[in-house]
Amino acid sequence: MIVGSGAGGGILASELSQRGVEVTIIEKGPSTPPGDAHCHYDTINTGVEILKTHCVGGTTMVTAGNAVRTCQDELKKLNIDVGSELDQVEEEVGVTILPDSLLGEGTRILMDSARRLGLSMEKMPKFIDPRLCKPCGKCALGCPRNAKWNSRHYLKNALNMGACLIENRPVVDVLLENGKLKGVRTHGKDYYADVVVLSSGAIATPRLLKRAGLEAGAQLFVDTFITIGGVLEKIGFNEEVQMNALLRRKDLIISPHFSSILVDKIPGAAPEDILGMMVKIKDDNQGQVTSEEVVKYSTARDVGLLSEGAALAGSILVNAGADPTRLVSTPARGAHPGGTAAIGSVVDSNLETEIENLFVADASVLPSAPGAPPVLTILALAKRLGRYIYMDRV
Ligand SMILES: Cc1cc2nc3c(=O)[nH]c(=O)nc-3n(C[C@H](O)[C@H](O)[C@H](O)COP(=O)(O)OP(=O)(O)OC[C@H]3O[C@@H](n4cnc5c(N)ncnc54)[C@H](O)[C@@H]3O)c2cc1C
Repeated sequence: MIVGSGAGGGILASELSQRGVEVTIIEKGPSTPPGDAHCHYDTINTGVEILKTHCVGGTTMVTAGNAVRTCQDELKKLNIDVGSELDQVEEEVGVTILPDSLLGEGTRILMDSARRLGLSMEKMPKFIDPRLCKPCGKCALGCPRNAKWNSRHYLKNALNMGACLIENRPVVDVLLENGKLKGVRTHGKDYYADVVVLSSGAIATPRLLKRAGLEAGAQLFVDTFITIGGVLEKIGFNEEVQMNALLRRKDLIISPHFSSILVDKIPGAAPEDILGMMVKIKDDNQGQVTSEEVVKYSTARDVGLLSEGAALAGSILVNAGADPTRLVSTPARGAHPGGTAAIGSVVDSNLETEIENLFVADASVLPSAPGAPPVLTILALAKRLGRYIYMDRV
């Protein structure tokens, strides 16, 4: 039984189904055409706004398609090596560098500006099919052309192999009897299973674990980000492939990014006049998910990193021709919540909780903030778990 069909749940369902394991996936949200995924944002407004979506495919439906390896050193310290799983995952999701024809003018001048400042900005690896992509700037709304990988690709494999997907059914409890795992509870119906894997994301998973009597929900990180924007008239950057380049610094990344929030903040600027850069940091994991609320604020270190990134982003924008008197920033947001059932604290290195046969496979298990796109790592960990469950539990 897999709870949630996002990054962790989809690949796990595929891994187990193709080995002949009977799999049921229970998903809170509905199926949606990829281009309508933005209708299922379920944003949490805390001190830092946290973005995620509830639908079949989970938050993978609205990614920017960025495919970088993260957390490998931290995982190695916990005796977990996902190198071979990452190799396989990269092949399965089609990681590639997009051709120059898909690199927009705004991105090109930002890369050039960074280079002239002595900063090295490389092209971002993507899980976007260049044959299907027609740049429109809508990645984070859900791809209208289905050119971008999402978890539904793995779910399709799983369903073809006989897995069952139940949509629109939030799991509300893990079922236990005398401390032993029995299955899961939804409103009005219980489902029984030998093995349950929670893949409901870093906000819902710790809540389910808490209801099962386990300590979870501490150490929340979100990879806090801001987007710095300026004006370069008629650049048309808002319709380019977003985050198509990457500048790495210690504990932060900077990437070309348009946000519609910037439009309201720059009087007189139209969307096509705005050039922007995202600053994303490896934030302190000091947030918390409780049964009632999510607490997430920026620490002094977080603010320092965001300021350092904002200074760099501003320099690159101005050097690219943006008007220095009209630079603005979005509020702090986070699109990578994780850490709330961390390996070594809540689950062991096989992602199993203290309750036998109750596992976690989603961003909750990440030991610390990746500070960069985490999907590949979540996929690799879930793939590894699929093998473990099949070899040792079935
Ligand atoms: C705008 C945006 C852009 C992003 N871009 C990138 C990118 O380019 N590259 C990258 O690597 N990462 C990106 N991310 C982050 C990435 O999408 C997430 O880190 C990843 O999807 C998290 O995987 P997960 O399995 O933990 O959760 P999710 O993918 O969110 O899956 C959780 C699933 O569980 C379901 N669920 C929740 N509660 C319940 C319940 N009670 N019962 C049943 N089901 C439930 C949800 O509906 C959802 O389907 C982006 C995120 C956002 C918001």
